[in-house]
Amino acid sequence: MKWRNWSGAVRISPAEIAKPQTEVEVASILRAAAERGRRVRPVGAGHSFTPLVATDDMLLSLEKLSGLVSANPFTGDVTLLGGTRIRDIAGLLAPFGLALPNMGDIDAQTIAGAISTGTHGTGLGFTGYSGIVTGLRLALPDGSVRERSDNDETFQAARVGLGVMGVVTAVSLRCVPAFNLECVETTEPIEHVLDSYLERSRAADHLEFFWFPGTPRATVKQLRQFRDSDPVSPMTRADRLVNREFLGNVVFGAMDAAASRVGALARPIRGIGSRLMAGRTYSDASHRVFVAPRRVRFRETEYAMPLEIFGEVVREVERAIVASGEQVTFPMEVRTAAADDTWLGSASGRESVYVAVHRYHRERFAPLLAAVEPVFRAYVGRPHWGKEHTLTADRLAQLYPRFEDFCAARAAVDPDGVLLNEHTRALLRAGALGSVVD
Ligand SMILES: Cc1cc2nc3c(=O)[nH]c(=O)nc-3n(C[C@H](O)[C@H](O)[C@H](O)COP(=O)(O)OP(=O)(O)OC[C@H]3O[C@@H](n4cnc5c(N)ncnc54)[C@H](O)[C@@H]3O)c2cc1C
Repeated sequence: MKWRNWSGAVRISPAEIAKPQTEVEVASILRAAAERGRRVRPVGAGHSFTPLVATDDMLLSLEKLSGLVSANPFTGDVTLLGGTRIRDIAGLLAPFGLALPNMGDIDAQTIAGAISTGTHGTGLGFTGYSGIVTGLRLALPDGSVRERSDNDETFQAARVGLGVMGVVTAVSLRCVPAFNLECVETTEPIEHVLDSYLERSRAADHLEFFWFPGTPRATVKQLRQFRDSDPVSPMTRADRLVNREFLGNVVFGAMDAAASRVGALARPIRGIGSRLMAGRTYSDASHRVFVAPRRVRFRETEYAMPLEIFGEVVREVERAIVASGEQVTFPMEVRTAAADDTWLGSASGRESVYVAVHRYHRERFAPLLAAVEPVFRAYVGRPHWGKEHTLTADRLAQLYPRFEDFCAARAAVDPDGVLLNEHTRALLRAGALGSVVD
């Protein structure tokens, strides 16, 4: 049996892919696995770039455990089954007049997979998805299913749980009244963007920018929320097809493929790429504006740094890419997030700037990662758990004040390491039997 992640960099042959239809079935699969000494990795939509789900034993998919459990239009409290795809949430919440307060670039992920790696969007008034989680149902390797919320230690750990804190069968989230977004995209000199970004981030609801390394301009995307009766002006069908699909995916993909064969093309492609991203203004329901199709496959690393050092870190990452001589045809992406109180969230306890570096999937990622990681490290960067990085337990323990608590909470729910794989053992300093080794 073959399985690969979205980028194609993780390719595995699991012995089995289990697709339970009920929570009871999830729990009994886990208990049976524990009794037989088997290893299980929960999997969502396979959109993580890291080998978080890699296993040669059992993958456990909740694709049949998807949908709305409950929604309260007055409080915004919503409970979804763990396998629910984010792209289905807007439709599920529409009858209740509710929406997710913020979203990332895409909506293909499952809600359990997204919270498990600390998936986020942009905006200093907003946390990632894990920051709005108010409760979880977890199936554990002892065959029990427990509801977790508030001050419970297992809950705190499992809000960004890497798939090692139990199988998340349901997620409760604090949602908001449905809203529209106006998107204004502008292309501006990079120095102006760097000088003004922090101030503009404080004023805007959601602000991010894309910068092709070595080029003088960046594309800024600014989103404004509105809930009043102002009409929306969605992107026309023609605009969507020409700009998003044809230019943004087909042409961009063809150029990337060409540059992966002829390195000298990378430079002109960066210039063309930054022009292809040039400005548009449109508005629509929030879930249609937050996300955009990403059909050209790439690999990615992303780190969260303290917001105050924003300008230095962005400049240095760009310099490191240019100095490395690696011919990159994807833009860097810069976003922000509010501090949250999760244990392993990359914005835990600090307002953060996220800097992401991408590369076409057919090109070697390791040299680019080697060029930028020292910069992230120097600026106390915390890696996105779902995006490529080389950090292991010793460094992670320095970056997260609650790291040891997380390891202890994991060992308490899964002492035999049923839910561990090689990658998570290295991340969590978990010994061969799943114990925490000091
Ligand atoms: C094109 C693209 C765009 C992206 N854009 C963004 C973005 O804008 N912002 C951002 O922050 N990230 C982004 N990501 C990263 C992505 O959001 C995360 O890697 C996310 O975790 C993927 O969710 P998934 O459902 O595919 O989970 P998977 O990748 O399948 O799994 C992720 C983790 O969740 C665990 N898991 C899955 N289901 C369960 C469950 N039911 N119970 C317990 N654990 C579970 C797995 O074991 C694993 O540890 C992007 C990735 C891609 C490929």
